[in-house]
Amino acid sequence: MIKVATALRTVLKGIKILDSEVIKLIDALERVLAEDVYSNSDIPGFNNSAMDGYALKSSDTHGAARNKPKILEVIEDIKAGDIPKKRLKSNQAARIMTGAMIPEGADSVIIVEYTKRAKGKEQRAKRMEFVQIFKEVKSGENIRKAGEDIKKGELVITKGTLLKSSHIGILASLGKAKIKVSRKPKVAILATGDEVIDVDEKLKPGKLRSSNTYTLYTQVLNCGGIAKNLGIARDKPLQLEKKIKEGLDCDLILTSGGVSVGDYDLVKDVLAKMGTNIIFWKVAMRPGKPLVFGHIRRIPLFGLPGNPVSSMVSFEIFVRPVIKKMLGQEADERKEVEAVSEEDIKKKKGLRYFLRANTRWHQGRYLTRTTGPQGSGILKSMALANSLIILPEKEEFIKKGEKVTIRFLD
Ligand code: AMP
Ligand code: MG
Repeated sequence: MIKVATALRTVLKGIKILDSEVIKLIDALERVLAEDVYSNSDIPGFNNSAMDGYALKSSDTHGAARNKPKILEVIEDIKAGDIPKKRLKSNQAARIMTGAMIPEGADSVIIVEYTKRAKGKEQRAKRMEFVQIFKEVKSGENIRKAGEDIKKGELVITKGTLLKSSHIGILASLGKAKIKVSRKPKVAILATGDEVIDVDEKLKPGKLRSSNTYTLYTQVLNCGGIAKNLGIARDKPLQLEKKIKEGLDCDLILTSGGVSVGDYDLVKDVLAKMGTNIIFWKVAMRPGKPLVFGHIRRIPLFGLPGNPVSSMVSFEIFVRPVIKKMLGQEADERKEVEAVSEEDIKKKKGLRYFLRANTRWHQGRYLTRTTGPQGSGILKSMALANSLIILPEKEEFIKKGEKVTIRFLD
C-alpha cells in the first residue's frame, strides 16, 4: 500500500498549470493571478495632505505654543483634486484638505485643531487672511509622500496570488481594468451505487441520498474550480463507462464509491477496461484507504471512496492540491500547527490518520479534541470540525496531553 506522502508526490508530478484568460478586474475576486504585476506609477501619485489643516514651512512654527501663537498669512485654499496655484514663501500658509496636493514651498501640514483663523480689525484692514498656529510641527508631518505605498516599477503582486479585495483595490489604483488569471479547472463529479439516489428523489427502503455529489461539488468550488455534475451511475459497467465518458471534456474527473473490494465495486475494473493508466488504488490512510488514481486519456482521475467522510477527507488531502496546482496557486499550504491532544487516541500502526477535530487557542497553546464518533460514514464529525488531527503511520497510541499535528480546514 502506498503512503500518503508518496501518493501525493506521485499525483502532483503529473499535474500541469492550466492556461490563462483575461477577465475584467471586477470579476477577479478569488481568482489566481497569472502574471506578475509591476506598478506603472507611484501610489499615491503626488505628495498630499493626510489631514485637514494648513500646509506650511515647519521652520515657521518654531516656538509656537497656545500662549505664543505664530501668525501666518493664508494665501490659498486647496481642495482635494485642486492644483495649488501659488508657491509658499516664509510666514505663509495654505488651507488644505485631506488628499489635496501639497503646494510647493510647504514641507508639512498642521492639523486644523491647532490653528485659529485670525480675523481681527487689523487683518481686515489689510484685506489679508491670517491664521494662528499653536504648535510646532516637524518637517514631513501629515504629508503622504508620492510613492509611499507603491513605487513606480515595483513588483506589486506576484503570479500565483489568490486575489483578495485588497489586491483588487491595488490593481484598480494602477488602472488595470483587465487582468490575466488562470483558467478555472473544470472538474467532473460522478456518484456511483445502486443504493444512491439524488437529493430530490423519494427515499425508499435501502436507498440513501448522494451527499457526496454535493460535498464534492462544493469542495471543487471552494478550491476555485468549476464543477460538472455527471449525476449517479448504477453499479453496471456500461452505465459507468457511459457516464465517465461524459467527463472527458474536463480537466479532472472524480468518482465516488465502488472502489473497495465488494462484488459490485466495479469502478476500478471499468476504468481499466477504458484504458485508464491506474497508478495506485489503495493508500495507507484512514479514512479513505480505497482510493484510485490514474490518467484516462491524459486526464487525471480519482476514484474516491464512497463513505461520505472518506470522500471529503480524500478530497482535502489529494484533490485540493491538484486543483490548486492546476491554478498555479502559490503558497497554498493549509496551516499546520502543533496542538495538545485533550484525549487518549488509539490507532492502527501503518496507516496515516486524519481525525476530525476541534482545535482552539487556550492560554498560549492550541488544544484539540475529536468531534465525537469517527466512523467514515459519520458526516457530522466533519461538520463539527475546524481541523484534522494528523497522526503519522508509525504511531499506535497518543496519550492525553501529548502533542499532535493539526491542519486547519476552512
Ligand atoms: P462503496 O465504496 O460504493 O461500497 O460505498 C461505501 C459506502 O458509502 C456505502 O455505505 C455507500 O452507501 C456510501 N455511499 C456511496 N456513494 C455515496 C454517495 N454518493 N453519497 C453518500 N454515501 C455514499
Ligand atoms: Mg457502491
